Amino acid sequence: MTVMADTTAPFRPAIALALCTAWLVPGSVLGQEQARSISGYRKASSANQLAVEHRLAAMLENDSAGRHFRYLTDKPHVAGSPRNRELADYVAARFREYGLEDVKLHRYDVLLPYPEQVGVTMLEPYRFDASLAEDGYPQDPDTYDAEVGITYLGMSASGDVTGDLIYANSGNPADYDWLESQGIPVAGKIAIVRYSVPYSYRGFKALTAERRGVKALIIYSDPADDGYRKGLTYPAGPWGPESHIQRGAITYDFLVPGDPLTPGWASVEGARRIPESEARSVPRIVAVPMSYRDARPLLEHLGGPVAPLAWQGGLPFTYRVGPGATKVRVNVRMDGKTRAIWVVEGRIRGTDQPDQMVVLGNHRDAWVYGAVDPSSGTATQLELARALGTLLREGHRPRRTIVLASWDAEEWHLTGSTEWGEQFARELGAGAVAYLNVDASTSGPEFEVGAVASLNRVIVETVRDVIDPNSRRSLLDAWTRDREPRDPARAGAGGTALALDLVDNELGSGSDYTVFLNFLGIPIVGMAFDGPYGVYHSQFDNYYWMTHFGDPGFRYMTAMAEVWGRMALRLANADIYPLDFQLYAMRVGRFLDSLGAQPAVAEHLDLAEARAAQRSWADAAARLERGIAAALAGNPEASFAPLNQALLQVERRFLLEQGIPGRPWFKHALYAPRFTYAAMTFPGVQEAVDEGDWPRARDQLRRLAERLRAVSQAVEDAAALVPAQDGLP
Ligand SMILES: [Zn+2]
Repeated sequence: MTVMADTTAPFRPAIALALCTAWLVPGSVLGQEQARSISGYRKASSANQLAVEHRLAAMLENDSAGRHFRYLTDKPHVAGSPRNRELADYVAARFREYGLEDVKLHRYDVLLPYPEQVGVTMLEPYRFDASLAEDGYPQDPDTYDAEVGITYLGMSASGDVTGDLIYANSGNPADYDWLESQGIPVAGKIAIVRYSVPYSYRGFKALTAERRGVKALIIYSDPADDGYRKGLTYPAGPWGPESHIQRGAITYDFLVPGDPLTPGWASVEGARRIPESEARSVPRIVAVPMSYRDARPLLEHLGGPVAPLAWQGGLPFTYRVGPGATKVRVNVRMDGKTRAIWVVEGRIRGTDQPDQMVVLGNHRDAWVYGAVDPSSGTATQLELARALGTLLREGHRPRRTIVLASWDAEEWHLTGSTEWGEQFARELGAGAVAYLNVDASTSGPEFEVGAVASLNRVIVETVRDVIDPNSRRSLLDAWTRDREPRDPARAGAGGTALALDLVDNELGSGSDYTVFLNFLGIPIVGMAFDGPYGVYHSQFDNYYWMTHFGDPGFRYMTAMAEVWGRMALRLANADIYPLDFQLYAMRVGRFLDSLGAQPAVAEHLDLAEARAAQRSWADAAARLERGIAAALAGNPEASFAPLNQALLQVERRFLLEQGIPGRPWFKHALYAPRFTYAAMTFPGVQEAVDEGDWPRARDQLRRLAERLRAVSQAVEDAAALVPAQDGLP
């Protein structure tokens, strides 16, 4: 799954920041790579680095990415299946063939129940058996493959229940509140809800239904959200046809991700496992996904009041909320089994500091063929591996280690990355510079990126140097233009100042960066090229869809390989890690402004201590930046090793030893996902505020201020390690 690449996720315009952009050059300098400088590099090494990157870019081939993509999407490859094991071997074989080092497979045995039976039958007002199947189309042979199997929601409970149906819009708490306010009882009913308006993770819908006493949950794709109301439907267009079904997991991984039976430690051989009945992330409710074709008769016969205007969908009748007329039976039987999953790892060992590493991850498992999600990303990763391996053979070994990881069972509970991160927590804590995630790499041409703000600068500088396949201009220009309509007032900025605003620094969850950010305190980036995409997690997310709509010619897959590869090499080869703690401090200052602007907060909390810590962090970061600029221009013999070691540790200082209340696995003081996967900043404080628990909010605010002071101190310590330059005060 991926939230960033999910077109149903809302676009959150980032806060406009007035920024010092002295390090940026105008976007019209393509072709003059040698003249450019890169943050974190001495002048001489900068030219060398750009030459290496140029070589990398020249090696990337659309056809080669396309061949990987054809193989990866040839058959369904859900986690735990023999086919996904074959693909693990395929990835490992390519890593070895291309010259990556220390290639290995890590096995984890995790809770991964498959369905034995899934059925939905309308019993009244007449009998209707939902097909729960997707149509075949003659032009696309993949739509006739028997291996597609039963459609289901991962981690649904087993059960056979019958009851009156109610329609509860998106299945969010406010929706059930409204029903109850109308005198419509919710407990004991079967609820049908639609996907994602406003965007909320299906697991949150399941938890909400479970808490309200709903007997079973049906989640369907409304044509207003990803079907004919959006545009042409498959196979004529990219939107979902009437039979498409969005599978997906409903795991409560916003409480704790990874294998539900080993929360907080790796599910390696011999590991302690808790009973399933004690696993907090396992849903207790029966849940089924449905197409709008199957949902139509169920909804059409509902009695009761007319649903509010905002709840009306794209089917051609007036939606009512029930109950009345429609009685339904939902029957799910899961096999309850644990299955083996496989994480593939390969690396290019660094010359100078092999223990310091940049980690590049993509998940390999899909719900069906997974063309967009995730095979576009896997093809991108393999093409990048080929180019990096060739660079290595040509003698360009990076200064620090680059690790490529192919995760498994991301779709279930972010499993493979979480288990691997838990297993290697010590090595990663000591040496990981950054984690760069690509889940779905392409469903269109629009660049989207989320990151911790210390990496904004690296992102912007990297995309400045990549050519957008459509416009043949800098990807930075294309990105800026896509996201912000031409604004005469901003024209003078050349689009570059805007670009910083376009990195989304509000991080939720829904992909494999979670363990790195929230559990290990490692700076993360998540990237995708997006476009109109209505077949998410259906069998139509396949080769035909990608080659007709998403990325014909595989140009954006290789563009992503270039972005990903350049970024990795920049971090791996930097003289001084180009982490921007000044911008980060500014961003956190804005987060504090937003927190303080909440009316209840102004009344009950005093942010002075946190603000003081943020200001001293900003001051220390400014001194650090000045020192680094001088050091990079100064003595070419100076060693930056102690400084770099200090820089890579700064993000770790955000980790709260005890985690956030009720979710100890989530340790980052700035970020945790809401249960919907949406971003939440200062989660410990914010959740207490949301609950009106002021003593807890004050306690959490004190802990936050403590973390901000620790970050400030870490930046201060780093500044003290900048080698002194003659002539500097
Ligand atoms: Zn995904």
